[in-house]
Amino acid sequence: MKKLIYLLIILFLFSACTEKEKTKESKPKNIILMIGDGMGLSQMYAVYTIKKDNTNMARCKHIGLVNTSSIDDLITDSAASGTAIATGNKTKNGHICVDKDGNKYTTILEIAEEHGKATGLVATSTITHATPAAFIAHNISRGDYEGIAKDFLVTDIDVFFGGGKNHFAKRKDSLNLIDSLKARDYNIVFDVDKISSIKNGKTAGLFYDEHPPKRSEGRNDFLEKASLKAIEILDQDEDGFFIMIEGSQIDWAGHANNQEFLLDETLEFDDVVGKILDFAEKDGETLVIITADHECGGFTVVDGDLEKGTIKGHFSSGNHTPVMVPLYAYGPGSEDFCGVYENTEIFEKMIVAFGFEGK
Ligand SMILES: [Zn+2]
Repeated sequence: MKKLIYLLIILFLFSACTEKEKTKESKPKNIILMIGDGMGLSQMYAVYTIKKDNTNMARCKHIGLVNTSSIDDLITDSAASGTAIATGNKTKNGHICVDKDGNKYTTILEIAEEHGKATGLVATSTITHATPAAFIAHNISRGDYEGIAKDFLVTDIDVFFGGGKNHFAKRKDSLNLIDSLKARDYNIVFDVDKISSIKNGKTAGLFYDEHPPKRSEGRNDFLEKASLKAIEILDQDEDGFFIMIEGSQIDWAGHANNQEFLLDETLEFDDVVGKILDFAEKDGETLVIITADHECGGFTVVDGDLEKGTIKGHFSSGNHTPVMVPLYAYGPGSEDFCGVYENTEIFEKMIVAFGFEGK
């Protein structure tokens, strides 16, 4: 009997070790990149306090610190930082995946497509806004939403969910890109409640004419529903997938110096992180990367109570700040995301994780 128990213990330890070794050795089949726009360390700590040390981001054991400056500005905007993360190149504020002369930089989403991966984008802003645009579009101006919308037809992206229906359907050039998407066999969804009816196939979900409302003003659980549905569809591709999921409005709360708005959007983001990590834990072949494109609002936690789950915050700016942002990584290849580095290296590390280097 004693021998049997020893044997069981040895078997258990062996499987745990091989599990750990497997994570170190193995490459992810899927990468889920989550960006909390404007979410600095203080924003994360505020949620940590409110959730009484029970945040999902803290489930990640591999942590990095990322420098966010753009090519000629200590303080970046979302276009330049999105470009850096998506292409590995620094550029000027306002530019989407092009250099200062308009020459294109190829994005991780485009490269994943070239390697047969399924791809997706989800955002709580218009899907043509700076951060999601930085994974699929090329434009000298982040404000050219109709030009950016056209680029969604250049890359065979599989799933995109967000706002900005007008940029596809109510355009100055009177093109109807919804018809173009239909011609390319996309399922088209305009009603959030219809998301669950989509089972598979390329899907364009444009649920708001312009930007979605705040979570607290009617957006409700859109981010969770859209993210899990997108992954359900992409996960049907045997070659694996790449998806970028953005909590866009954390930044808007920072600009507005609105603490209640900031906390609600960051709490939602962390809740969705939890669902994504649950998926990755079950799946075992998924690398999850959670970070920010920059901090916004110069937010600091000046007081609070961990037991009561309350905080008192302070804003020192109505704009972005240059402070480094945290990065949390989980899954195969996540150990490579430790350390202090430039935002451009997130792209390089994703390329290595997928095994695309030199290909
Ligand atoms: Zn901003």
